[in-house]
Amino acid sequence: MKFDAVIIGAGAAGLFCAAQAGQRGLKVLLVDHSERIGEKIRISGGGRCNFTNRDLDPRAPQKHFVSANPNFCRSALSRYTPQQFIEMVDRHGIAHHEKHKGQLFCDGPSQQIIDMLLAECAAGGVQHWQPCTVKSVAFIAPDAGGAGGVGGVGGVGDAGGVGGAGGVGGVGGANGAGATRYQLDTSRGAVEAASLVIATGGLSIPQLGASDFGYRVARQFGVDVIAPRPALVPLTFGGEGWAPYAGLAGLALPVQIETGTKKERMAFLEDLLFTHRGLSGPAVLQISSYWKEGTPLTIDFAPGADVAAALGAAKARSRKRVANELATLVPSRLADAWVGEDAALQRPINEAADRVLNALSERIARWQITPAGTEGYKKAEVTAGGVDTRELSSQSLESRRQPGLYFIGEVVDVTGWLGGYNFQWAWASAFACAAALQEAQANAQ
Ligand SMILES: Cc1cc2nc3c(=O)[nH]c(=O)nc-3n(C[C@H](O)[C@H](O)[C@H](O)COP(=O)(O)OP(=O)(O)OC[C@H]3O[C@@H](n4cnc5c(N)ncnc54)[C@H](O)[C@@H]3O)c2cc1C
Repeated sequence: MKFDAVIIGAGAAGLFCAAQAGQRGLKVLLVDHSERIGEKIRISGGGRCNFTNRDLDPRAPQKHFVSANPNFCRSALSRYTPQQFIEMVDRHGIAHHEKHKGQLFCDGPSQQIIDMLLAECAAGGVQHWQPCTVKSVAFIAPDAGGAGGVGGVGGVGDAGGVGGAGGVGGVGGANGAGATRYQLDTSRGAVEAASLVIATGGLSIPQLGASDFGYRVARQFGVDVIAPRPALVPLTFGGEGWAPYAGLAGLALPVQIETGTKKERMAFLEDLLFTHRGLSGPAVLQISSYWKEGTPLTIDFAPGADVAAALGAAKARSRKRVANELATLVPSRLADAWVGEDAALQRPINEAADRVLNALSERIARWQITPAGTEGYKKAEVTAGGVDTRELSSQSLESRRQPGLYFIGEVVDVTGWLGGYNFQWAWASAFACAAALQEAQANAQ
C-alpha cells in the first residue's frame, strides 16, 4: 500500500491535516489505534467543543501559548486564523455562540465538529484505518543514485518499550528519490509513504487513547523532546496548612491568581473552585501551565476590593462579628474558614485589633500557598512540553533533521491557554503541514 502521506493520530490535528492534504490532491492514509476517533473533541468544552477563540491575535498569537520557544507558533497561527475555522464551521451549518473571553462553543453536541472533519476528509478521499496499531516505523534514505539506503527501525510498538536506538537494517531496493521514504508495519499490513505526520497528541486522559507514541518516534529519529508535564490541570494541596480549607469543596469564587516573579510573573483573573484534594476552576487550570514545582501561588480572594479599607470602615460603624463583616467581601464559608484559624478574629469587629484586621486583609489579598502537586494526566486537559520546536520548521512543522517527518498538534511543545486555543493550534499546525506536504509532493514530481 503506497500513500503520499500517512498521518498517525485521528484527533483534531490529524483529522484536519488529512482533510486538507486530501483536498490538495494527496493520497492520504489516516491511522488511529482507537476504535473511536476524535474522542477529545467529543468531550471538549463540556460536550459543546470550545473549538476556537476570537481573542487570538494573529499578529501576536504567542501571548496565549506556553512553549520553551514562544515565537515558534506565530507562523502557523497567523497563516490559519480563528476566522478561517469559523467560516468552515458556518459552511457546515453548525450553530455556535461566544461565551466568555472570545471562547466559541457549538450550540449542539461536539460530535458536529467531528462529523464536519470527517466530511472534509471524505471530500479529500482520505482513507481511514482504525483501530490500527503501528508496530514500527522505518526510514529509507534515498541515496544519490536513487537506490534505497539505510533505515532506522522499530521501537515504537504500542506495547510500550523505549524507542530510540532501533535496529539499523540495510534496506536495499529501488526507491527513487522523492518516492517512498517511510515504511510502516501496522496491524493491517505494511504501508509506504513519502511523508509521515505524527499527530498522536499528548499524554492527557490515557483512558481516551493517549500514548507516548509521538515522543518515541521523535526519539527514534534523534528529535529532542522537552519533558512532558500535565497542564491545564487541578492542583493538589496537603498537610496542616491545607486542613482549614479541606471542607470548602464545591465553593467557587472569582480570584486573581499569580505565579512567578518579575519577568516570569503570570496572572489570571478567573473563577477558582475548591475541590476535595485542592484547587481547580479556570483560574487554577490556567496558572497550572505556568506553575513550577515547589514554588508558591499568590491568590487575591477579593480582586478589585480594598479589603483593609472595608474592614477598617466596618470596625468604625459595626458591632457584627468579623466573620459576618468579611462575608460581605468573600463567600461566608471562606470567611468562616479564615476567621476560624485565629482566636483573635473570633469576636465583634469593633473589638478586633487593627493589627489583626490588617493581617487578615493582607492574607485575603495576597494568600501564598504552595501546591503539593497536580492531579496528573488523568485530569489534565493538555500536556505541556513535547517535541522541541527548535527541531521543527515553524513554516511546515517538518523535522529539521529528518526529511519528510512532521509533528503537529499537542505532541509539539506548544500549549494554549484554556478557551479554544489548543484546538486553534491543532487546526493551524495541521493546515501549515498540509500546505507543506503539497509543496513537497510538487517538488518531488
Ligand atoms: C477534557 C478535555 C476538554 C478539552 N476541551 C478543550 C476545549 O474545549 N477547547 C480546546 O481548545 N481544547 C480542549 N482540550 C484540549 C484539546 O482536546 C487537545 O489539545 C486537542 O485535542 C489536541 O489535538 P491533537 O490532534 O494534537 O491530539 P488528540 O486530539 O489527543 O488526538 C490524538 C489522536 O492520536 C491517537 N493516538 C494516540 N496514540 C496513538 C498510537 N500509538 N497509534 C495511533 N494513534 C494514536 C489517539 O487515539 C487520538 O485519536 C480539551 C482536552 C480535554 C482532555
